[in-house]
Amino acid sequence: MIQFCDFNLAAPLQDAVRRMGFEHPTPIQTQAIPPALQGLDIVGCAQTGTGKTAAFLLPSLNALLSNKSKNKNSRMLVLVPTRELALQVGDHAKQLARQTGLKVAVVYGGVGMQDQERALRAGADVVVATPGRLLDHINRNTACFEHLSILVLDEADRMLDMGFLPDIRRVLRVLPPSARRQTLLFSATMPPYILALTREVQRNPVKVEVAVARPPEAIDQKLYPVPKHLKVNLLLHLLNHHKMTSVLVFTRTKHGADNLVKKLKQAGVKAATIHGNRTQGQRVAALEGFRQGHYRVLVATDIAARGIDVEGISHVLNFDAPGVAEDYVHRIGRTARAEASGDAITFITPADEPMVQSIQRLIGRKLERCNAPGFDYGVEAPSYAKPSVAELQRQYATPRTTSQRWSQMLGGRRRR
Ligand code: AMP
Repeated sequence: MIQFCDFNLAAPLQDAVRRMGFEHPTPIQTQAIPPALQGLDIVGCAQTGTGKTAAFLLPSLNALLSNKSKNKNSRMLVLVPTRELALQVGDHAKQLARQTGLKVAVVYGGVGMQDQERALRAGADVVVATPGRLLDHINRNTACFEHLSILVLDEADRMLDMGFLPDIRRVLRVLPPSARRQTLLFSATMPPYILALTREVQRNPVKVEVAVARPPEAIDQKLYPVPKHLKVNLLLHLLNHHKMTSVLVFTRTKHGADNLVKKLKQAGVKAATIHGNRTQGQRVAALEGFRQGHYRVLVATDIAARGIDVEGISHVLNFDAPGVAEDYVHRIGRTARAEASGDAITFITPADEPMVQSIQRLIGRKLERCNAPGFDYGVEAPSYAKPSVAELQRQYATPRTTSQRWSQMLGGRRRR
């Protein structure tokens, strides 16, 4: 088995790996680090939870350390889709770079520009950024990438899903051309539009891949069939009767997330929410409170949850089934991080059955079904008005295009 010492990384990086408690490289690290250390372009198919962040940070930081160039400004750029992921990758980079003297700046929207401007002007070797805010800095001349030698596109599929391709192209225009930089691209899925992007930004990339979209075996996955109107009651029942210490709950819409938190609080459960309508301060406070155990439940939407890396999440609970099967894998990957164990529970209504089929096809196995007595399909509460077929189709149709997906995530409203 390959060890971290086999990579011959600079001593401060080896120390950092030890300090962070990484005993062995994960499969994506074993595959990606050697060619990346040779300066080759890499296209990596790996989801979060596989150790992909260190897979691109370690060889890149090593290269920055061995290149004694006098100009240290913005030599490496990591583009990520969300502010949460920017903070998480920035944090990872700072931890790994702690004893190296390399500086890291993190740049994302939703907060003031000044602190970020100061960090960029002071000179940062590594810039971790979301594309929109980075463009603001480029337009104000506070970010300049003429000395850039390494570009990383992290969660590339999600960046394109979120409509960042035009912004990414604008950023690429101010970077040295692909022949004069190393480009590392990571994506959880490899649809044709990602392969087209790699052709646009890379030169003969080495392909590395860890078992595509298969959730870690350590996650115990269960389906709970439940009529829609009993979902909250079932959640409260499970919270009362099971040892669920730290639960990340996914809803399909922001409105649904707010509603659920309200009901949980009314029932005396300490809960917070994180979604696109919350301010950056509110998101950080919710995440920090969850991380420190002040909240037992954190309710999130898919996009906001991107980049949530909290150790010790005991359960991921899909209150609403995901809109696309790949999101199921992203969601449940939040528990059982690295090598811990965890549980994933998915509430399903009859309309979710086609999605269950897609998920089972994607992960290559059948999911176990549990019936919580009193909450399963057999129960008809007086208030339960049976939705029409048209209503069910509107609510639960699997989105086929990005705009349908956005529209569904935004609760049927058009994005402005
Ligand atoms: P990532 O896929 O980069 O989001 O990493 C998921 C989690 O795994 C993070 O909490 C990392 O700190 C952790 N991790 C990364 N590499 C290793 C490793 N070699 N051994 C143990 N944990 C790791």
